[in-house]
Amino acid sequence: MTMSISAEFSQPLVPGMAYLNTGEASVALARAQVAVNRARSAQPAWAALGAARRAAIIARFRELLFAERDTVARAVSEESGKPMPESYVADVAMALEGARFLSRVAERALESHTVRSQTLAAWRKSITTHHDPFGVIAIVSPWNYPFFYPAMHCMPALVAGNAVVLKPSEHTPKCADLLVRLLHEAGVPADACVVLHGDGRVGAGLVNTDIDKVMFTGSERTGRSIAVSCAPRFVPVSLELGGSDAAIVLDDADMDHAASGILWTRFANAGQTCAATKRVIAVGRAYDELLPRLARGLSQLTIAADTLDFVSTTDIGPMVTAPQRAMIMEQIDEAVAQGATVAARLAPNAAGSSSASERAHDRMAAAVILTDVTPAMRVWNEETFGPVLVVMKAGSEAEAIALANGTRYGLSGSVWTKDRARGVRVASQLESGTAAINDAVTPAGLPEVAFGGVKASGLGRIHGVEGLMECVRSRTVVDDALTGMRQPWWFGYGPDSVSRLDCYLRLSHGNSWWQRLGGIPGTLKLLLRPERRV
Ligand code: NAD
Repeated sequence: MTMSISAEFSQPLVPGMAYLNTGEASVALARAQVAVNRARSAQPAWAALGAARRAAIIARFRELLFAERDTVARAVSEESGKPMPESYVADVAMALEGARFLSRVAERALESHTVRSQTLAAWRKSITTHHDPFGVIAIVSPWNYPFFYPAMHCMPALVAGNAVVLKPSEHTPKCADLLVRLLHEAGVPADACVVLHGDGRVGAGLVNTDIDKVMFTGSERTGRSIAVSCAPRFVPVSLELGGSDAAIVLDDADMDHAASGILWTRFANAGQTCAATKRVIAVGRAYDELLPRLARGLSQLTIAADTLDFVSTTDIGPMVTAPQRAMIMEQIDEAVAQGATVAARLAPNAAGSSSASERAHDRMAAAVILTDVTPAMRVWNEETFGPVLVVMKAGSEAEAIALANGTRYGLSGSVWTKDRARGVRVASQLESGTAAINDAVTPAGLPEVAFGGVKASGLGRIHGVEGLMECVRSRTVVDDALTGMRQPWWFGYGPDSVSRLDCYLRLSHGNSWWQRLGGIPGTLKLLLRPERRV
């Protein structure tokens, strides 16, 4: 089942270039170009260091990040509002793992390699494929994982020999500054990693400079506008966009495990995780077993503004921005007006430190579980980037898969079952970049696992060797050492040309040994043609 792009996105978009009509935008473009020029001047020397030295610098970055883990976790919690344990896990630990992975695999993965051609006519060639950096890569990142996402884009781009200009979210500038400081201290030259602060206008300016590639993580809407503005210039883009991931809970699942896993993936980070479970599809009796557990589990959590100290027991903190909270409230209210039922609701705890509550008062959102939802509702067919979980019942496994795939997104998904083979079978039918069984979100945090979406969830991959390869372009040299002999396909056609080529085809592709052997004499004449005097 495929949904058409919603009316909102079928409107003509204003690509980033349109900003350039205003004086403000010209200033943004000029500022961004200065940053790109700085990065461009530093890039050749950085690339010339070689992959081994660059990988060693990323390893050093990991040591420094480990030493400053408390500072980084605190900055993440301060800027985003998430509880400290989540800053430790989702931003610090995952960035550390990413740095270790890249420092170990980058040199080998970036090595030039020889290619053995299977084309018999290319027997004389030695072929080498190199992995060249693009030059300067623009990295535009969001606020939900304000250290992890910029880090997981900057590290592969840099280790591949690119310089980067990082445009972090305007809502989380401090985390980006910390990241860039640690990279510089580790040995990345100041101009090879430049941070460019500002809002969407600065981002639009950056993607309209003479940049060599754009790596964007953020909303579908902005991703679309970046793709539109880069397309006429053939600037490559990789886009990590939103998702509306489904958790298919089968009737044989461990319901306690499913409930606690789904509650965490949905409500951690106040629901602002791209690969969180946003829709639960419970098959048959799983619905009646799971829903009360989800409701009870939610009631056992706490939502509060106090997230910053090491002993806080807050589970769900404030949202990152007030407009994001308003957006999620609107989606919930609209669904309820259209007939959805609030099956469970957890209100923010008013008690706690008054200064924290004051700071966060317009970002605190109740966590909600909705039932009686239909696929026509926005909470089902749009991304919900906040603390709301929708739960639907499916009559069969096949119906559950169709419902899961029935949005325009395809980031990730999960299947919950005790039957491993059934889990694998269902997971392999999800239209998504990754899928998990009896877990969710984890694929997005494993540095070895290529992560990214299909459909409107984006283009390209981050993480894994595949993510590293997004930061290079391949260049192949095909080298022929045997001068003095014409290539078989060069001029000099004669009455025997076709019969010799036919011999070649018989030898290369004949269906029987007899056919192949018969092709040998003509093929030798074709492959060993002496050079013509011209
Ligand atoms: P956003 O699109 O509003 O902003 C992201 C970044 O783009 C910010 O730095 C912003 O300043 C910049 N920006 C805004 N307009 C721009 C323009 N016209 N040109 C260039 N840059 C521009 O997204 P957000 O609200 O910060 O992030 C939330 C979204 O990100 C959610 O939809 C979420 O699903 C998605 N996300 C996806 C992933 C993933 O890996 N797929 C990860 C994290 C977040």
